[in-house]
Amino acid sequence: MRAHAQYVIVGNGVAGVNAAKTIVEAKPGAGTVVLAAEKHHYYNRWQLPAFLAGELAQHEILFYPPRWYEDHGITVHLDCAVAQLDPAGHRVVLCDGRQVSYERLLLAAGSAAVVPPTIAGTEKQGVFVLRTLDDALAIKAYAAGTKEAAVIGGGLLGLEAAHALHALGLAVTVIEFFPRLLPRQLDIAGAELFRAMVEASGIRVITGAVCQEILGEGRAAGVGLQGGEAVSGGLVLISAGIRSRSQLAQAAGLEVKRGVLVNERLQSSAPDVYAAGDVAEFSGQVYGIIPAAVEQARVAALSMLGVDSAPYTGTVPLTTLKTMGIDLTSIGEVNPEGGGVQEYRVVRREKGLYRKIVLRDGRIVGAILIGDKANVSPVTRLIKAGADLSAQADQLDEEDLDFRRLSSGDAPKLARYQCTICGYIYDPAKGDLEGSVLPGTPFEKLADSWTCPNCGASRALFVRMEE
Ligand code: FE
Repeated sequence: MRAHAQYVIVGNGVAGVNAAKTIVEAKPGAGTVVLAAEKHHYYNRWQLPAFLAGELAQHEILFYPPRWYEDHGITVHLDCAVAQLDPAGHRVVLCDGRQVSYERLLLAAGSAAVVPPTIAGTEKQGVFVLRTLDDALAIKAYAAGTKEAAVIGGGLLGLEAAHALHALGLAVTVIEFFPRLLPRQLDIAGAELFRAMVEASGIRVITGAVCQEILGEGRAAGVGLQGGEAVSGGLVLISAGIRSRSQLAQAAGLEVKRGVLVNERLQSSAPDVYAAGDVAEFSGQVYGIIPAAVEQARVAALSMLGVDSAPYTGTVPLTTLKTMGIDLTSIGEVNPEGGGVQEYRVVRREKGLYRKIVLRDGRIVGAILIGDKANVSPVTRLIKAGADLSAQADQLDEEDLDFRRLSSGDAPKLARYQCTICGYIYDPAKGDLEGSVLPGTPFEKLADSWTCPNCGASRALFVRMEE
């Protein structure tokens, strides 16, 4: 291993890889070393549920093969966890004692799954979290000998995991602490409709429940709830949120709250140390979503290079359910607090349609769209632009409102589209030469089999951009 590199990146996930890519693209030949804790090459973490479900093979989720790093002049060391950071000495110490010195360091170690200490017996056999490819492989192997699963946590990741286990043929119960599913992405009315759709798919849902213990002797047999009810399940999957992997930074004396504190240049409190992705906390927020990791990685990389670029100002949260066969998108502020807020709803239970639009002082700041795929792109565009819809407010609760009409001005003929998973922008003027798409090809004309060249997301996960 090189004992010194100009740019050292701790972490080989979305933030780490995107930063490395930005560095070598802006400065070809820059000495860039990526230290990866996992033994696998980069894979799409967001596709782990689809891999678990058997919808994708392992090689299909390995997005950047070893060859990619070679071609880009990036050195990656796998199975190489960092034990210590010495900001004053500009070096990191690896778990095996080797040292690497750097000129600029990026912390991009991501996040780990939270296992609540309030639940007894989580060390039992058959209890899992789904965060890494190794987790998915272990769950898959264990699920083969099990008929029932309990998933603790009804957030996005918990539901995607539940769907995967259900697809494997297990009877699945999801247990959520909040009184509704997807508490961060939905409101009460939207969650009610969504719950009915999840239940109709064959997954059992319990909300407002407190998990007390994992039942079973040595091996998990289910989950005991407060109040005495028992949910059976030989496989228990805990999806109770994520926590930044910030221990390294904390031990080195960097300022850390929920994540490593960074400014608008993604600089930490230590000189020449930057942070991006789930490990970083910006303006009180640890985003935990891919578009934020991609945007932060880009700004961090440019800052590390000393390139003048627009500062990072935050990311509009946008989440789309990716595996359940339900079209659900949640953007921006969906449960707004404070004054000056108006909400507009369309609810058609029989059609599986729910649309909520949130205005603050007349400007659109958030939306929930269930079963309304056509409006995802235009609504996202309006929110990112902070469009003033006060003049159209009386139309916002009309079922067949086409939000494209509300976008100001004429839409350009060849619109650019952005990947909602990773932030990649498809520009028709440039095409996608690696995917054999010629410049001048409109997004609408791309083959259904075309996928995001940056992360592998399907066409359906792209939204049209504000121009
Ligand atoms: Fe993408």
